Amino acid sequence: MAITGLKVMNEQKQGTPYTSSMMPEKSNGDKFYIENYGCQMNFNDSEIVASLLTKEGYQVTGNYEDAKVVLINTCAIRDKAEMTIRRRLGTFNKIKKNNPGMLIGILGCMAERLKSKLLEEEKLVDIVAGPDAYRALPGLIDEADGGQKAINVFLSREETYADVSPVRLNSNGVTAFVSIMRGCNNMCTFCVVPFTRGRERSRDPQSIVRECVELRDNGYKEVTLLGQNVDSFNWVNPDTNEAVTFADLLEMVAKVSPELRVRFSTSHPKDITDDVLYTMAKYENICKYIHLPVQSGSTAVLQRMNRTYTREWYLNKVKRIREIMPDCAISTDIIAGFCGETLEEHEATLSVIEQVKYEMAYMFMYSERPGTLAARRFEDSVSEEEKKRRLQEIVDLQHKHQAELMPKDIGKTCKVLIEGNSKKSNQDWVGRNDQNKVVVFSKENRDLKPGDYAKVKVTDCTSATLLGKLA
Ligand code: SAM
Ligand code: SF4
Repeated sequence: MAITGLKVMNEQKQGTPYTSSMMPEKSNGDKFYIENYGCQMNFNDSEIVASLLTKEGYQVTGNYEDAKVVLINTCAIRDKAEMTIRRRLGTFNKIKKNNPGMLIGILGCMAERLKSKLLEEEKLVDIVAGPDAYRALPGLIDEADGGQKAINVFLSREETYADVSPVRLNSNGVTAFVSIMRGCNNMCTFCVVPFTRGRERSRDPQSIVRECVELRDNGYKEVTLLGQNVDSFNWVNPDTNEAVTFADLLEMVAKVSPELRVRFSTSHPKDITDDVLYTMAKYENICKYIHLPVQSGSTAVLQRMNRTYTREWYLNKVKRIREIMPDCAISTDIIAGFCGETLEEHEATLSVIEQVKYEMAYMFMYSERPGTLAARRFEDSVSEEEKKRRLQEIVDLQHKHQAELMPKDIGKTCKVLIEGNSKKSNQDWVGRNDQNKVVVFSKENRDLKPGDYAKVKVTDCTSATLLGKLA
């Protein structure tokens, strides 16, 4: 379970249908609908799928009743995500009864995890495509249209979709995601990702820079570089054997334009280097914000999770970040009630939160995933009720810290990238500052627009938003 309300997991965005004004150059007369579950990487994958299908003549629609092909890009990280997706497949199957020509496809991690089960046993879908099989999708659609079973769940060691220019879906025209690598080689025992997204591979840095230049030329002002573990980015030039590290890549992207903000996610505490921190400090346009998942504050639990760092190592990393960038915001992921977690070990998580004082946290109850190392090795021994209780303690503490940290910004002036109208009033702009905090401020009839930077003096705050005035 991810607790909502407090800024923990962006569940409002789960299942959002995607649209784009982009039309295929040569239409084939068919439309596709795509909705997305899960992380930012999945979101970016949906944009890659949209690009591949648009090239084949399909037009994207936000209305599934209008679509020939209905696609769900799925997440398998927790059981709850899979249950939601199953309910959604039920809804689509009801519609298909009146519209037998409609094809339902499942993409991404759940497709990879369940392989042919949803197609052959449960007969809930017509198409199954794993995260490395999106190039095959037009062919799979044709096969399914011809009445065949259409499935491709091969995991690749090379595929990075480097040459695919993603169609920006539901875009605000200001911020965009750029995938820099795929897969994961870490074997955190609780995690299904290495099984659903395959081995880690880094994308050619020149293609990443090209994509960022294209975004800049189209008026975008912020890119978020995405990977399960960005700090282990390592691309070796096949001609010269020279390696490009994440610190090198950050510098290359920061140099695209001082006006283009650079963010990244996710950092693994074992891999983030001083080189990365110094590069962040060197460039004003690299945002001073690091998502550094701790998962647990107990070294014994971290060992059972195979996170390969200790509590002390983690705390030293946080210290190092703050030495090099005193104003850097840090957020985290936390799992409550992992296998065998004792009360003492749970207390250690509370005390790590107390020590670090995170700007933001995604907090989850442990959810056993079939096939993972934890499912094979350990008993899921903490009861649901106790997991819930521990999660609530974690959430309450995090909430308390956020309530204490937010007012500290009152009186400060920050640089805000305007993303659009605030949700509550079109008289106000909303954007984010360097530390990724949401800032709302009055337009005051000034000549500003989304994509502009504004200097804002913070005058007040809520639990998750800074309120200010143009400085
Ligand atoms: N690669 C990132 C990392 O290492 O931090 C995170 C990837 S995962 C998509 C995002 C978060 O989901 C993890 O950091 C973890 O807190 C949570 N998560 C993963 N598997 C989980 C499970 N089985 N139960 C509960 N939470 C889980
Ligand atoms: Fe999962 Fe660990 Fe890889 Fe993150 S680093 S995706 S938690 S295995």
